[in-house]
Amino acid sequence: QKVLVSGANGYIAIWVVRNLLERGYSVRSTVRSEDKGEHLKKTFSQYGDKHEVVIVPDITKKGAFDEAVKGVDAIEHTASPFHLNADDPYELITPAVNGTVGMLQSALEHGTSVKRVVVTSSGAAVLHDNPKPQEFDESNWNDQCLEFLAQGGPVLTNMVKYRASKTLAEKGVWKFWEDNKSKISWDIVVLNPPYVFGPTIHAVTTPSSLNTSALSWYNFVAHPTASGATNEFLATTGSAWIDVRDLAEAHSLALEKEAAGSKRIIVSAGVWKWQDFIDAANAISPPPKLSSPLPLGNPGAGTPNPATIHMIRYKTDRATEVLGLKYRTIAETTKDTLADYEARGW
Ligand code: NDP
Repeated sequence: QKVLVSGANGYIAIWVVRNLLERGYSVRSTVRSEDKGEHLKKTFSQYGDKHEVVIVPDITKKGAFDEAVKGVDAIEHTASPFHLNADDPYELITPAVNGTVGMLQSALEHGTSVKRVVVTSSGAAVLHDNPKPQEFDESNWNDQCLEFLAQGGPVLTNMVKYRASKTLAEKGVWKFWEDNKSKISWDIVVLNPPYVFGPTIHAVTTPSSLNTSALSWYNFVAHPTASGATNEFLATTGSAWIDVRDLAEAHSLALEKEAAGSKRIIVSAGVWKWQDFIDAANAISPPPKLSSPLPLGNPGAGTPNPATIHMIRYKTDRATEVLGLKYRTIAETTKDTLADYEARGW
């Protein structure tokens, strides 16, 4: 069984590739250029011809994945920009939407052996900002970001631009599914993860080259003073999260579980505040040897404090029932991430 993984050099996708190879699948990884494939090739060289890298230079072009989908049994589409410095929202929206719908179109026209397509969407396509705490489930859609996109001006923050890219891409998936389901022999699963944290195995050399979510963890858990974060900020800022390795496992389970077909599935380990990870870091024995001492913040002031409010929670029954997904804890993820930093001399 061969699986196509798009954007395979990314933080999440390289763990997806690893999980698939460890389960015995063959994997075809797509990247944008030869040089972006080098680290992948090296990382998985032990798998010989069970791992191949192909170049898809521009995912926004019509038919971009036509060649890549040929001969694969399943597809994991993860390629999509996640950064918070786009001026023009379409810098994010165009590759998110065209890349995702284009992948489905290529699978429709050329993926004669494809049985399932898994798309990495996001909690960003589910949640919306609310004055009151709210629990979201798979019936919720982030229409707020689309209203803000239409409105423009100060409400169109960089986070809103990213949320709009993920919401429009996922809406594109379900529209494609509705329009074409009678014509296609495969089905679709959409995964909606919140913030993804945990160790890195993709090509990062310096902390500043980390992807958006892993970089924020580095900045606020390992170096909050340098980041200018106050104790108040660390105790009150958070959301929901999942370990990158559990998300990779979810991508494999989404291929394997028949019942996952034609569902969107929220995968989340629970809620966090930065202080929770800092407390977990300080509980590690022996302490990790990092380039600067761990911060203390205000121990216990995060989730354990009864006054703490979590604005966004997710209902995750579907992931448990359909995928049987289990989650690492804040303590486990923190220990492994800091061991990764220690090994890198960070
Ligand atoms: P990374 O930035 O590490 O990886 C993104 C991948 O997408 C890279 O392979 C990148 O290629 C590719 N990509 C980005 N922009 C383009 C573009 N314009 N054209 C072609 N390829 C592009 O991010 P993550 O691993 O964190 O994200 C992977 C997926 O997971 C995304 O779909 C993201 O929205 C989603 N997600 C991430 C979360 C997180 O907290 N990290 C949370 C929820 C969802 P290149 O290296 O060449 O730029």
